[in-house]
Amino acid sequence: MKRIFMMGLILLGAVYLMPFVTAGSSVSPDDPGTDVDTVPESIAEEIMNSGKNQSGDWDKDTKVTVLISGEVREMTLENYLPGVLAAEIPASFPDEALKAQAVAARTYVMYKKRLVELGSAPPESHKGAVLCDDPKHCKAYIDINAKAEELWGSKADEYVKKITDAVKATDGMAATYQNEPIAAVFHAASSPKTESAADVWGADTPYLKSVDSPGGEASPKYSATVEVPDTEFREKFLKKYPDAKLDAPINTWFKASIRSEAGGIISVEVGGVRVSGTVIREMFALNSTNFTLSFTENTITFHTTGYGHGVGLSQYGARQMALDGKTWEDIIKWYYQGVTITKEG
Ligand SMILES: [Zn+2]
Repeated sequence: MKRIFMMGLILLGAVYLMPFVTAGSSVSPDDPGTDVDTVPESIAEEIMNSGKNQSGDWDKDTKVTVLISGEVREMTLENYLPGVLAAEIPASFPDEALKAQAVAARTYVMYKKRLVELGSAPPESHKGAVLCDDPKHCKAYIDINAKAEELWGSKADEYVKKITDAVKATDGMAATYQNEPIAAVFHAASSPKTESAADVWGADTPYLKSVDSPGGEASPKYSATVEVPDTEFREKFLKKYPDAKLDAPINTWFKASIRSEAGGIISVEVGGVRVSGTVIREMFALNSTNFTLSFTENTITFHTTGYGHGVGLSQYGARQMALDGKTWEDIIKWYYQGVTITKEG
């Protein structure tokens, strides 16, 4: 099992999660997240051989360095996590869903910290910090006190309290696997099963398997379409894959798609070149890899289901589970199967 865990670490070194609040602070309900950095295999080997995590320290006073608006700040988890929640999940969600999100975010921070501790240097763009606030790279963060009014208007006080309470109520709690904090990735809405890390990133990870996840339809972005003119498709695709043959009629370009059990495109042949669904998703800013296609003479339309990479905790799924009376522990243990909730100390 350790080897499987290691594989997870190799490919899930830095999965980023798009926030639902953009840098300009305009609020949209949710956003997708994907991307994977890789951790050098030597580091993964080190983790595998390092035995138990000895530090095990993730209570409210634990410090983490974060690059925020270009400056490295050292923050306690107590101060940092509410700003992550405010940026990553609608504050209107039920309390148990917010608590599950708090535990996932705390766990993810500790996971990143652990990788650095074991020798995996953060990217240069971080200026030495463990995490940054770039939604395209790490975790979104907003200064909850400065932005509350702007974000939530008359509900500002209520929502600040909801979010800080969710962080406080789960203080010191993290999800662990073999005594290590897990790569607690999350996304907005599944379609309607979550994806496995193996299908999306090629990293078989024991706690990131596909599970049923109802409630995604409540996301306003659950179903969407993106129309791409053939000229734009050719330009973008050929730039990255110059060997692709895109001269034939447009409706013959896509062939032999392979889908995951959850419905996402694992890979598909485009003009004779096999690419992953994630590549297509990123190239054309699709909400998910779970898409079908329709064509006119000069356009391709992607019809997507779900929002986000689909791996790990689904925020709308957590919302549904909370509405159905489940606790944050139930939610965490459902989306990250086989994990233990470990209290620091
Ligand atoms: Zn970053």
